[in-house]
Amino acid sequence: MSIVPVNLLGLELDALVALCEELGEKRFRAVQLFRWVHQRGVSDFGQMTDLAKSFRAKLAERAYVATAAITHQHESRDGTIKWLFDVGGGDAIEAVFIPEEGRNTLCVSSQAGCAVGCRFCFTGHQGFSRNLSSAEIVGQLWYAEHFLRKRLGGAERVISNVVFMGMGEPLQNYRNLVPALRILLDDHGYGLSRRRVTVSTSGVVPMIDRLAQDCPVALAVSLHAPDDTLRDYLVPLNRKHPIDELLRSCIQYLQYAPRDFLTFEYCMLDGVNDLPQQARALVELVRAYGMQGLRCKFNLIPFNPFPGSGLIRSTDENIRAFAQILADAGIVTTVRKTRGDDIEAACGQLAGSVQDHTHVAERVKQQRAMAPERSARALPTIEHEALT
Ligand code: SF4
Repeated sequence: MSIVPVNLLGLELDALVALCEELGEKRFRAVQLFRWVHQRGVSDFGQMTDLAKSFRAKLAERAYVATAAITHQHESRDGTIKWLFDVGGGDAIEAVFIPEEGRNTLCVSSQAGCAVGCRFCFTGHQGFSRNLSSAEIVGQLWYAEHFLRKRLGGAERVISNVVFMGMGEPLQNYRNLVPALRILLDDHGYGLSRRRVTVSTSGVVPMIDRLAQDCPVALAVSLHAPDDTLRDYLVPLNRKHPIDELLRSCIQYLQYAPRDFLTFEYCMLDGVNDLPQQARALVELVRAYGMQGLRCKFNLIPFNPFPGSGLIRSTDENIRAFAQILADAGIVTTVRKTRGDDIEAACGQLAGSVQDHTHVAERVKQQRAMAPERSARALPTIEHEALT
Protein backbone atom coordinates (compact mmCIF):
# COMPACT_ATOMS: atom_id res chain seq x y z
CA MET A 1 0.00 0.00 0.00
CA SER A 2 1.44 3.39 -0.96
CA ILE A 3 1.98 5.98 1.78
CA VAL A 4 0.14 9.29 1.39
CA PRO A 5 2.67 12.17 1.51
CA VAL A 6 2.26 14.53 4.47
CA ASN A 7 2.17 18.33 4.29
CA LEU A 8 4.96 19.50 6.60
CA LEU A 9 3.18 22.80 7.28
CA GLY A 10 0.91 20.94 9.70
CA LEU A 11 3.51 18.94 11.65
CA GLU A 12 4.59 20.33 15.01
CA LEU A 13 8.25 19.77 15.81
CA ASP A 14 7.78 16.53 17.78
CA ALA A 15 5.78 15.01 14.91
CA LEU A 16 8.47 16.10 12.45
CA VAL A 17 11.14 14.53 14.66
CA ALA A 18 9.15 11.26 14.59
CA LEU A 19 8.91 11.39 10.79
CA CYS A 20 12.64 12.12 10.43
CA GLU A 21 13.52 9.26 12.80
CA GLU A 22 11.38 6.98 10.65
CA LEU A 23 13.54 8.09 7.73
CA GLY A 24 16.69 7.31 9.71
CA GLU A 25 17.56 10.92 10.63
CA LYS A 26 18.35 12.44 14.01
CA ARG A 27 16.37 15.12 15.86
CA PHE A 28 18.64 17.99 14.83
CA ARG A 29 17.85 17.25 11.17
CA ALA A 30 14.17 17.71 11.97
CA VAL A 31 14.98 21.06 13.59
CA GLN A 32 16.89 22.12 10.46
CA LEU A 33 14.00 21.05 8.26
CA PHE A 34 11.46 22.83 10.48
CA ARG A 35 13.48 26.05 10.20
CA TRP A 36 13.81 25.75 6.43
CA VAL A 37 10.07 25.45 6.11
CA HIS A 38 8.76 27.95 8.65
CA GLN A 39 11.55 30.46 9.16
CA ARG A 40 12.94 30.58 5.64
CA GLY A 41 9.73 29.82 3.75
CA VAL A 42 11.32 27.18 1.51
CA SER A 43 9.04 24.54 0.04
CA ASP A 44 11.47 22.87 -2.38
CA PHE A 45 13.55 20.21 -0.60
CA GLY A 46 16.20 20.62 -3.34
CA GLN A 47 17.01 24.09 -1.98
CA MET A 48 17.67 22.84 1.56
CA THR A 49 21.37 22.63 0.90
CA ASP A 50 22.58 21.64 4.37
CA LEU A 51 20.49 18.47 4.30
CA ALA A 52 22.04 15.34 2.74
CA LYS A 53 20.88 14.59 -0.79
CA SER A 54 19.75 11.12 0.29
CA PHE A 55 17.57 12.67 3.04
CA ARG A 56 16.10 15.17 0.59
CA ALA A 57 15.26 12.34 -1.80
CA LYS A 58 13.48 10.42 0.96
CA LEU A 59 11.60 13.56 1.98
CA ALA A 60 10.42 14.13 -1.57
CA GLU A 61 8.73 10.72 -1.47
CA ARG A 62 7.11 11.12 1.94
CA ALA A 63 6.35 14.81 2.32
CA TYR A 64 5.63 18.14 0.66
CA VAL A 65 5.14 21.78 1.62
CA ALA A 66 2.19 23.61 0.09
CA THR A 67 -0.58 26.03 0.95
CA ALA A 68 -4.04 26.01 -0.53
CA ALA A 69 -4.25 27.93 -3.83
CA ILE A 70 -4.64 31.69 -3.45
CA THR A 71 -7.46 32.86 -5.67
CA HIS A 72 -7.69 36.52 -4.66
CA GLN A 73 -5.46 39.09 -3.04
CA HIS A 74 -7.15 42.36 -2.15
CA GLU A 75 -5.28 45.35 -0.78
CA SER A 76 -7.04 48.16 1.03
CA ARG A 77 -6.12 51.82 0.92
CA ASP A 78 -5.36 51.50 4.67
CA GLY A 79 -2.72 48.78 4.10
CA THR A 80 -4.93 45.83 5.04
CA ILE A 81 -4.40 42.83 2.76
CA LYS A 82 -6.88 40.02 2.42
CA TRP A 83 -6.18 36.66 0.81
CA LEU A 84 -8.78 34.18 -0.31
CA PHE A 85 -7.63 30.54 -0.29
CA ASP A 86 -9.37 27.84 -2.30
CA VAL A 87 -9.44 24.82 0.03
CA GLY A 88 -11.27 22.59 -2.46
CA GLY A 89 -14.80 21.26 -2.67
CA GLY A 90 -16.09 24.73 -3.52
CA ASP A 91 -14.91 26.11 -0.15
CA ALA A 92 -12.92 29.31 0.29
CA ILE A 93 -11.34 30.67 3.46
CA GLU A 94 -9.76 34.00 4.30
CA ALA A 95 -6.74 35.47 6.04
CA VAL A 96 -6.35 39.19 6.67
CA PHE A 97 -3.14 41.16 7.34
CA ILE A 98 -3.67 44.27 9.46
CA PRO A 99 -0.66 46.59 9.80
CA GLU A 100 -0.75 48.95 12.77
CA GLU A 101 1.65 51.18 14.65
CA GLY A 102 3.92 48.85 16.64
CA ARG A 103 2.40 45.56 15.51
CA ASN A 104 1.37 43.60 12.43
CA THR A 105 -1.52 41.22 12.94
CA LEU A 106 -2.68 38.31 10.82
CA CYS A 107 -6.26 37.17 11.30
CA VAL A 108 -6.62 33.52 10.31
CA SER A 109 -9.48 31.10 9.71
CA SER A 110 -9.88 27.75 11.44
CA GLN A 111 -12.85 26.25 9.58
CA ALA A 112 -14.53 26.54 6.19
CA GLY A 113 -17.80 28.08 7.35
CA CYS A 114 -19.00 27.78 10.93
CA ALA A 115 -21.65 25.79 12.75
CA VAL A 116 -22.26 28.23 15.61
CA GLY A 117 -24.51 30.51 13.56
CA CYS A 118 -24.13 33.84 15.36
CA ARG A 119 -26.81 36.21 14.09
CA PHE A 120 -24.46 39.07 13.27
CA CYS A 121 -21.85 36.98 11.43
CA PHE A 122 -21.78 36.45 7.70
CA THR A 123 -19.73 33.27 8.07
CA GLY A 124 -22.34 31.89 10.46
CA HIS A 125 -25.05 32.57 7.87
CA GLN A 126 -23.12 30.58 5.27
CA GLY A 127 -23.19 27.42 7.42
CA PHE A 128 -20.49 24.87 8.20
CA SER A 129 -18.54 23.00 5.57
CA ARG A 130 -15.50 21.42 7.24
CA ASN A 131 -12.61 21.81 9.66
CA LEU A 132 -9.32 23.08 8.29
CA SER A 133 -6.30 20.84 8.76
CA SER A 134 -3.36 22.09 10.85
CA ALA A 135 -1.47 22.59 7.56
CA GLU A 136 -4.28 24.72 6.15
CA ILE A 137 -4.31 26.85 9.31
CA VAL A 138 -0.52 27.32 9.48
CA GLY A 139 -0.40 27.73 5.68
CA GLN A 140 -2.19 31.07 6.01
CA LEU A 141 0.61 32.44 8.21
CA TRP A 142 3.35 30.77 6.16
CA TYR A 143 2.09 32.34 2.95
CA ALA A 144 1.41 35.80 4.40
CA GLU A 145 4.70 36.02 6.32
CA HIS A 146 6.93 35.04 3.41
CA PHE A 147 4.95 37.04 0.88
CA LEU A 148 5.40 40.15 3.03
CA ARG A 149 9.09 39.47 3.68
CA LYS A 150 9.73 39.22 -0.04
CA ARG A 151 7.79 42.38 -0.71
CA LEU A 152 9.66 44.31 1.99
CA GLY A 153 12.97 42.79 0.90
CA GLY A 154 14.07 41.72 4.38
CA ALA A 155 14.62 38.58 6.39
CA GLU A 156 13.11 40.01 9.59
CA ARG A 157 9.82 38.67 10.90
CA VAL A 158 6.92 40.80 9.68
CA ILE A 159 3.86 39.37 11.44
CA SER A 160 4.02 39.92 15.19
CA ASN A 161 0.52 38.84 16.23
CA VAL A 162 -1.91 36.15 15.11
CA VAL A 163 -5.59 36.18 15.99
CA PHE A 164 -8.00 33.32 15.34
CA MET A 165 -10.87 35.62 14.43
CA GLY A 166 -11.40 34.69 10.81
CA MET A 167 -13.87 32.09 9.62
CA GLY A 168 -14.84 29.36 12.04
CA GLU A 169 -14.98 28.59 15.76
CA PRO A 170 -11.40 27.49 16.53
CA LEU A 171 -12.38 25.51 19.63
CA GLN A 172 -14.71 23.37 17.51
CA ASN A 173 -11.62 22.33 15.54
CA TYR A 174 -9.53 21.64 18.61
CA ARG A 175 -7.65 18.62 17.27
CA ASN A 176 -6.12 20.65 14.45
CA LEU A 177 -5.92 23.93 16.34
CA VAL A 178 -3.48 22.81 19.03
CA PRO A 179 -0.70 21.53 16.71
CA ALA A 180 -1.07 24.75 14.68
CA LEU A 181 -0.70 26.85 17.84
CA ARG A 182 2.40 24.90 18.85
CA ILE A 183 4.01 25.58 15.45
CA LEU A 184 3.24 29.29 15.83
CA LEU A 185 4.80 29.37 19.30
CA ASP A 186 7.84 27.17 18.59
CA ASP A 187 11.12 29.11 18.64
CA HIS A 188 12.24 27.08 15.63
CA GLY A 189 8.97 27.94 13.88
CA TYR A 190 7.46 31.43 14.10
CA GLY A 191 8.56 32.08 17.68
CA LEU A 192 5.44 34.05 18.57
CA SER A 193 4.85 34.81 22.22
CA ARG A 194 1.75 33.30 23.85
CA ARG A 195 0.59 36.83 24.58
CA ARG A 196 0.61 37.62 20.88
CA VAL A 197 -1.46 34.66 19.76
CA THR A 198 -5.16 35.05 20.49
CA VAL A 199 -7.85 32.41 20.19
CA SER A 200 -11.29 33.91 19.91
CA THR A 201 -14.21 31.74 20.96
CA SER A 202 -17.97 32.03 21.10
CA GLY A 203 -17.80 30.02 24.35
CA VAL A 204 -17.04 26.32 23.83
CA VAL A 205 -16.56 25.83 27.57
CA PRO A 206 -15.11 22.27 27.67
CA MET A 207 -12.45 23.26 25.14
CA ILE A 208 -11.58 26.48 26.98
CA ASP A 209 -10.80 24.23 29.94
CA ARG A 210 -8.67 21.93 27.78
CA LEU A 211 -6.82 24.79 26.10
CA ALA A 212 -5.78 26.04 29.53
CA GLN A 213 -3.97 22.73 30.02
CA ASP A 214 -2.73 22.00 26.50
CA CYS A 215 -1.61 25.33 25.10
CA PRO A 216 -2.70 28.47 26.97
CA VAL A 217 -2.58 31.54 24.74
CA ALA A 218 -4.41 34.86 24.95
CA LEU A 219 -8.18 34.38 24.93
CA ALA A 220 -10.93 36.55 23.48
CA VAL A 221 -14.53 35.64 24.22
CA SER A 222 -17.45 36.74 22.06
CA LEU A 223 -19.94 37.97 24.66
CA HIS A 224 -22.25 40.32 22.71
CA ALA A 225 -24.99 40.42 25.37
CA PRO A 226 -25.30 41.07 29.11
CA ASP A 227 -27.91 38.34 29.75
CA ASP A 228 -28.77 34.82 28.65
CA THR A 229 -32.02 35.72 26.90
CA LEU A 230 -30.33 38.04 24.43
CA ARG A 231 -27.19 35.91 24.14
CA ASP A 232 -29.29 32.82 23.40
CA TYR A 233 -30.62 34.76 20.42
CA LEU A 234 -27.33 36.27 19.20
CA VAL A 235 -24.97 33.37 19.95
CA PRO A 236 -27.00 30.12 19.84
CA LEU A 237 -24.19 28.20 21.58
CA ASN A 238 -25.21 30.08 24.74
CA ARG A 239 -28.16 27.69 25.13
CA LYS A 240 -25.62 24.93 25.73
CA HIS A 241 -23.07 26.95 27.70
CA PRO A 242 -24.82 29.92 29.34
CA ILE A 243 -23.08 33.03 30.61
CA ASP A 244 -22.52 31.79 34.17
CA GLU A 245 -20.81 28.59 32.98
CA LEU A 246 -18.78 30.57 30.44
CA LEU A 247 -17.56 33.18 32.92
CA ARG A 248 -16.59 30.55 35.47
CA SER A 249 -14.56 28.82 32.81
CA CYS A 250 -12.92 32.17 31.92
CA ILE A 251 -11.93 32.67 35.55
CA GLN A 252 -10.28 29.23 35.58
CA TYR A 253 -8.52 29.95 32.29
CA LEU A 254 -6.97 33.12 33.70
CA GLN A 255 -4.91 30.98 36.08
CA TYR A 256 -3.03 29.62 33.06
CA ALA A 257 -3.33 32.48 30.55
CA PRO A 258 -0.27 34.47 29.46
CA ARG A 259 -2.09 37.70 30.33
CA ASP A 260 -3.88 38.45 33.56
CA PHE A 261 -7.03 39.50 31.71
CA LEU A 262 -9.10 38.33 28.81
CA THR A 263 -10.92 40.28 26.16
CA PHE A 264 -14.67 40.30 25.72
CA GLU A 265 -15.79 41.10 22.21
CA TYR A 266 -19.06 42.87 21.78
CA CYS A 267 -20.56 43.44 18.34
CA MET A 268 -22.52 46.69 18.41
CA LEU A 269 -26.02 46.24 16.99
CA ASP A 270 -28.33 49.19 16.73
CA GLY A 271 -31.27 48.88 19.14
CA VAL A 272 -30.43 45.26 19.96
CA ASN A 273 -27.54 45.27 22.45
CA ASP A 274 -26.30 48.88 22.47
CA LEU A 275 -28.66 50.51 24.98
CA PRO A 276 -27.33 52.34 28.05
CA GLN A 277 -29.13 49.95 30.40
CA GLN A 278 -27.38 47.04 28.66
CA ALA A 279 -24.01 48.71 29.24
CA ARG A 280 -24.92 49.10 32.91
CA ALA A 281 -25.98 45.44 33.07
CA LEU A 282 -22.55 44.49 31.68
CA VAL A 283 -20.89 46.56 34.38
CA GLU A 284 -22.90 44.65 37.00
CA LEU A 285 -21.97 41.34 35.41
CA VAL A 286 -18.25 42.19 35.35
CA ARG A 287 -18.40 43.40 38.96
CA ALA A 288 -20.16 40.26 40.16
CA TYR A 289 -17.68 37.90 38.51
CA GLY A 290 -14.79 40.25 39.26
CA MET A 291 -15.31 39.32 42.92
CA GLN A 292 -14.51 35.74 41.87
CA GLY A 293 -11.38 36.68 39.92
CA LEU A 294 -12.56 37.73 36.47
CA ARG A 295 -10.25 40.32 34.91
CA CYS A 296 -11.28 41.60 31.52
CA LYS A 297 -11.36 44.37 28.98
CA PHE A 298 -14.00 45.05 26.35
CA ASN A 299 -13.54 45.46 22.63
CA LEU A 300 -16.60 47.00 21.00
CA ILE A 301 -16.90 46.03 17.35
CA PRO A 302 -19.06 48.03 14.94
CA PHE A 303 -21.29 45.51 13.14
CA ASN A 304 -20.38 44.81 9.53
CA PRO A 305 -23.64 44.61 7.63
CA PHE A 306 -24.45 41.88 5.16
CA PRO A 307 -27.55 41.09 3.13
CA GLY A 308 -30.38 39.40 4.97
CA SER A 309 -29.03 39.92 8.49
CA GLY A 310 -31.89 42.24 9.51
CA LEU A 311 -29.37 44.03 11.75
CA ILE A 312 -27.93 47.53 11.66
CA ARG A 313 -24.60 48.89 12.86
CA SER A 314 -24.88 51.02 16.01
CA THR A 315 -24.32 54.69 15.48
CA ASP A 316 -21.00 56.26 16.37
CA GLU A 317 -22.70 58.24 19.14
CA ASN A 318 -24.26 55.15 20.69
CA ILE A 319 -20.99 53.24 20.56
CA ARG A 320 -19.20 56.08 22.28
CA ALA A 321 -21.91 56.42 24.93
CA PHE A 322 -21.83 52.65 25.57
CA ALA A 323 -18.03 52.69 25.82
CA GLN A 324 -18.15 55.62 28.21
CA ILE A 325 -20.46 53.78 30.64
CA LEU A 326 -18.02 50.85 30.75
CA ALA A 327 -15.01 53.15 31.05
CA ASP A 328 -16.63 55.19 33.83
CA ALA A 329 -16.99 51.92 35.76
CA GLY A 330 -13.22 51.35 35.41
CA ILE A 331 -13.42 48.75 32.63
CA VAL A 332 -10.76 49.17 29.93
CA THR A 333 -12.74 49.54 26.73
CA THR A 334 -11.60 49.87 23.13
CA VAL A 335 -13.59 50.45 19.99
CA ARG A 336 -12.30 48.48 17.06
CA LYS A 337 -11.33 50.67 14.17
CA THR A 338 -13.02 49.44 11.03
CA ARG A 339 -10.33 48.27 8.63
CA GLY A 340 -10.37 47.28 4.99
CA ASP A 341 -14.03 48.13 4.38
CA ASP A 342 -13.18 48.67 0.72
CA ILE A 343 -11.97 45.06 0.40
CA GLU A 344 -14.62 43.27 2.48
CA ALA A 345 -12.10 42.58 5.25
CA ALA A 346 -14.59 41.56 7.93
CA CYS A 347 -15.04 37.89 8.73
CA GLY A 348 -16.59 35.89 5.91
CA GLN A 349 -17.25 38.84 3.67
CA LEU A 350 -14.83 38.16 0.86
CA ALA A 351 -15.68 34.48 0.68
CA GLY A 352 -19.32 35.45 0.53
CA SER A 353 -18.89 38.31 -1.91
CA VAL A 354 -19.53 36.02 -4.85
CA GLN A 355 -23.18 36.76 -4.21
CA ASP A 356 -22.75 40.30 -2.97
CA HIS A 357 -20.41 42.85 -4.48
CA THR A 358 -21.62 45.92 -2.59
CA HIS A 359 -19.13 47.40 -0.16
CA VAL A 360 -19.74 47.78 3.55
CA ALA A 361 -20.32 51.54 3.55
CA GLU A 362 -22.91 51.15 0.80
CA ARG A 363 -24.65 48.40 2.75
CA VAL A 364 -24.78 50.53 5.89
CA LYS A 365 -26.45 53.24 3.81
CA GLN A 366 -28.87 50.80 2.23
CA GLN A 367 -29.86 49.28 5.57
CA ARG A 368 -30.38 52.66 7.17
CA ALA A 369 -32.54 53.66 4.23
CA MET A 370 -34.64 50.55 4.89
CA ALA A 371 -35.05 51.61 8.54
CA PRO A 372 -36.33 55.21 8.19
CA GLU A 373 -36.60 55.90 11.90
CA ARG A 374 -32.89 55.28 12.24
CA SER A 375 -31.70 56.69 8.92
CA ALA A 376 -31.34 60.25 10.20
CA ARG A 377 -28.27 59.19 12.19
CA ALA A 378 -24.90 59.94 10.65
CA LEU A 379 -22.75 57.12 9.28
CA PRO A 380 -20.18 56.30 11.94
CA THR A 381 -16.54 57.16 11.51
CA ILE A 382 -14.96 54.95 14.15
CA GLU A 383 -11.50 55.71 15.44
CA HIS A 384 -9.51 53.33 17.56
CA GLU A 385 -9.42 54.54 21.11
CA ALA A 386 -8.74 53.25 24.60
CA LEU A 387 -10.91 54.52 27.41
CA THR A 388 -10.08 53.83 31.02
S1 SF4 B 1 -18.85 34.89 15.02
FE1 SF4 B 1 -17.34 33.21 15.01
S2 SF4 B 1 -18.39 31.55 16.13
FE2 SF4 B 1 -20.00 33.00 15.53
S3 SF4 B 1 -20.75 32.22 13.56
FE3 SF4 B 1 -19.13 33.72 13.11
S4 SF4 B 1 -17.27 32.51 12.86
FE4 SF4 B 1 -18.79 31.23 13.95
